[in-house]
Amino acid sequence: MCGIVGYLGKKQAVPVLLDGLTKLEYRGYDSAGLAVVNAIGKIEIIKAHGKLTELKKKVKSCGKTIKGLCGIGHTRWATHGVPNENNAHPHANDDGSVVAVHNGIIENYSELKEKLIKRGYTFYSETDTEVATKLVDYYYRKYGEPLRAISEFAFRVRGSYALAVLFGDYPNEIYAIRKDCPMVVGLAGGECFLASDVPALLKYTRDVYYVDNLQITRLKQGKAEFFNLDREMLSLPLTHIDWDLKAAEKDGFEHYMLKEIHEQPAAVKNTLNCYLKNGKIDFSEVKLSDETVKSTGSVIICGCGSAYHAGVVMQYVMEDLCRIPVRVELASEFRYRNPVVAGNELFVAISQSGETADTIAALREAKRLGIKTLAVVNVYGSTIARESDFVFYTKAGPEISVATTKAYSAQLIAGYLLALKYGVVRGTLTDENYRALLNELCALPDKISEILKEQSAVQQFASETVNRENVFFIGRGIDYAAGIEGSLKLKEISYIHSEAYAAGELKHGTISLIESETLVIGVLTQDKLAEKTAGNLEEVKSRDASIAVIAAEGVKIPESCGKAVVIPCTDGHFTASLSVIPLQLYAYYLSVLRGNDVDKPRNLAKSVTVE
Ligand code: GLU
Repeated sequence: MCGIVGYLGKKQAVPVLLDGLTKLEYRGYDSAGLAVVNAIGKIEIIKAHGKLTELKKKVKSCGKTIKGLCGIGHTRWATHGVPNENNAHPHANDDGSVVAVHNGIIENYSELKEKLIKRGYTFYSETDTEVATKLVDYYYRKYGEPLRAISEFAFRVRGSYALAVLFGDYPNEIYAIRKDCPMVVGLAGGECFLASDVPALLKYTRDVYYVDNLQITRLKQGKAEFFNLDREMLSLPLTHIDWDLKAAEKDGFEHYMLKEIHEQPAAVKNTLNCYLKNGKIDFSEVKLSDETVKSTGSVIICGCGSAYHAGVVMQYVMEDLCRIPVRVELASEFRYRNPVVAGNELFVAISQSGETADTIAALREAKRLGIKTLAVVNVYGSTIARESDFVFYTKAGPEISVATTKAYSAQLIAGYLLALKYGVVRGTLTDENYRALLNELCALPDKISEILKEQSAVQQFASETVNRENVFFIGRGIDYAAGIEGSLKLKEISYIHSEAYAAGELKHGTISLIESETLVIGVLTQDKLAEKTAGNLEEVKSRDASIAVIAAEGVKIPESCGKAVVIPCTDGHFTASLSVIPLQLYAYYLSVLRGNDVDKPRNLAKSVTVE
């Protein structure tokens, strides 16, 4: 959550910072601000409530251009204090000589605030960030040295942070530190860049340093230096990013979300290609050995939001194909319920960004319990990737829209490949089945493209149902798993109340909510279960609801159904990869028709790095 940028170089900093923040706005957008060291070494700050456009307007209209070659910027997703200009970052000490932006939460901020008040500090905002800034100031005054001030800060605070600091006494330097919030550093032609995520740097460089937890960064005169908390210099490896700039831009689409929906055939294909060699699954990059696969007693999957939903699909597929017990859990709950483990489990942490705070915490709990861990993440070098024993990188490319689509699709592929690998190694799949299922997987990208060609039918249906205030999704098995994802998409971006139910569960209470204005969408792709779900659709139809279905080719569609979207056939284990496409499009078009900001839905942010 929240985006941080920093720039130090030969250009005017303000446009570079604003440009970087634009690329990071998906991370938070309730207020924004920047700070630049001006020509006489004074740090000037400008902030605005609302989306980044408000800050841009303010920069233009304030009558003075802040000139300077070194600065930091921030786009906020408020955790402490309402989103307003006063709480917006940057925050500063009283004489404006120490200025900081922060991503994350300082958990012990109240206790630190009290201590600082006793030492004469006054606070003007409700944020934990102002406390962080003043704590750095306190240690700077005490020790007279930025590196020492920042390491002392790190020793005193609990929580998560990516913190970038300007010191007026060092006008040509930027200091930063991170713990459990991402930070990358890039260098190009004598210029230094700092950001929460790679898209902000892609225009300038594709060679980046991923800064690790509790490493301090100092940017000065075209070079980046890294230190540990003892202020000893470190040498970090340079990583080359293979995305191009176009991958992080809209490329002619009206919204990132629509672009990313259309990138799903490529996301699926790239992920498959990466792990298939000579017609077989090759997990050498994942580092998951056949011995580990054979000795796994059961699988625990954790994720949040859509990643959790991908885990639900994975559970159905793995249990069926590999006959191994699989449980899927909400990452935010896992560590609070004192989980019981045998020690031979495989723990799978799913997260697009690899920085989801709840999933990181669940992963750490799994490690504490001594079980092996596998990351399924989309971002190279992210915290979850670094802390797991094995890493499956989904190859979806950068995902900018807050509502995930292509990363979810790539996570499903990770689940299928894992299931096939377990199945073949543990002997629950014959070679013939294994090959047939791999062939089916390889056909998915073309089938997704086929569905995308029919998007106008979904658009038309969205316009016919734009005024519905209650939409239910029902299905059984994997269709239920697809339904919960479709329902979340609808809530996230079109703000329509929606529920997803296992079809058989509706009559155990929820059916009382069904009335004439309710729309119930059935997902019917599972041969053996479709008829039963169709029966449940008839039940709601009899109670005056309108019904629609997403059905696999060949599945019998209920006669009373108003609207049907037919998707191509695939193996029953993989249907979520197809049925989810019209569901994503439906949420997208409803959001557009309702005039919402599709890529930046209210109250949300991508990459939830706070608990
Ligand atoms: N906790 C800080 C605040 O509420 C930073 C939140 C963020 O990551 O944007 O201001």
